[in-house]
Amino acid sequence: MGMDLKHLDRYICIVCGRVFPKGQGVILKVEDSEIVFHSSKCAARFYKMLIDRGSKEVISESIRLARELEAVLEKKREATSKRI
Ligand SMILES: [Zn+2]
Repeated sequence: MGMDLKHLDRYICIVCGRVFPKGQGVILKVEDSEIVFHSSKCAARFYKMLIDRGSKEVISESIRLARELEAVLEKKREATSKRI
């Protein structure tokens, strides 16, 4: 029972336990595993838990990725304003 539901094309959200059909929800493929959330809200909660665990690598990588994404957005914004 429990996790065996996965074989019936159903997933269980690891955060809230909700069962949902394949094709919905948020599935993160990490190496050979899947991390399964029924909604982006639960994915965000998982991310918050990950940060709260305080792994230095995870925290600094999160901040680095955020800054990278900001830089990409900034470049896009500059490119559009030049075109106009
Ligand atoms: Zn959930």
